[in-house]
Amino acid sequence: MKPELLLKPTPAGLYCPSGDFYIDPVRPVDRAVVTHGHSDHARAGHGVVLATEPTLAIMASRYGEAFTERRQAAAYGETVTINGVTIRLVPAGHILGSAQAVVEKGGARVVVSGDYKRRRDPTCPRFEPVPCDIFISEATFGLPVFRHPPDTEEIAKLLLSLKTFPERCHLVGAYSLGKAQRVICLLREAGHDAPIYLHGAMQKLCDLYTAHGVKLGDLRPAADAMKTPLTREVFKGAIVLCPPSSLNDLWSRKLGDVVTSFASGWMRVRARARQRLVELPLIISDHADWDELTATITEIKPGALWVTHGAEEALVHWSNSIGVPATALNLVGYDEDGEGEPAAPTPTEASA
Ligand SMILES: [Zn+2]
Ligand SMILES: [Zn+2]
Repeated sequence: MKPELLLKPTPAGLYCPSGDFYIDPVRPVDRAVVTHGHSDHARAGHGVVLATEPTLAIMASRYGEAFTERRQAAAYGETVTINGVTIRLVPAGHILGSAQAVVEKGGARVVVSGDYKRRRDPTCPRFEPVPCDIFISEATFGLPVFRHPPDTEEIAKLLLSLKTFPERCHLVGAYSLGKAQRVICLLREAGHDAPIYLHGAMQKLCDLYTAHGVKLGDLRPAADAMKTPLTREVFKGAIVLCPPSSLNDLWSRKLGDVVTSFASGWMRVRARARQRLVELPLIISDHADWDELTATITEIKPGALWVTHGAEEALVHWSNSIGVPATALNLVGYDEDGEGEPAAPTPTEASA
């Protein structure tokens, strides 16, 4: 069959007419395939959800056990057939459980990458390139200005600051799902064995990662330490992780003298860091940067490229220029990790 008939963009998300299922639907549907647990891709209220076991566990943890009528877990590489269409989930390297959906029928193959990155992440298996007729990619950081440095360099900056200012608490804003656990793992790999304190909103997901075999070391609830009269002593020279929304709120003021840090691909944009009063920006992203996006398209060399969301235009233009015909789908409802970060920078911000 013609690959372009296999999946079509609809207001509810990418739909497979012959299989009668949606991928990462933004509205409740009878049958959903979910690439990963971020809330803009994984929503509650579907009839059946096909996903990896960790993704199903993440959804249950965030929405409650009744998040779907029925769960269907698939291991990486396993083939599932729905109404004559086969689906295979392969690693996307984005967060724990994240997968690309490989959809096939009658010799046509379309790969929906969900969100992905190419560099190593100690919390999940690496992205696996799959040759295909149509590759469907995100483009969160689809502008040449976005080049993420090695994460070890960014973690070294944080540890150097901790050494330079041993009297100050280092408060690191990070998305609760994926980024927080990756930052913790990277700190452990860099030899930081001290207890790391967590904002309450992060505890459950860190426990879930630990239950899935990701070693996070000594984690302690910041709330417990805040109850003691010695609060400020405890947090001196300590690393505390919180969701980005708590970086500058009342809660963070209880930590005493704080170096405010934020781990995000958007920290490449100085205006963003200033806006959030971030003293120590860390460019650590779970999304492919420009080089990773273009290297992936060059490597896979798909028959065509469809771009779902993000800064589509530059990537579409680049892809056409190397002979891979590209289309922007302009799917709505997806943002960077579903945690309220603006979807795409304005050109002036990007060049800042
Ligand atoms: Zn996303
Ligand atoms: Zn995501």
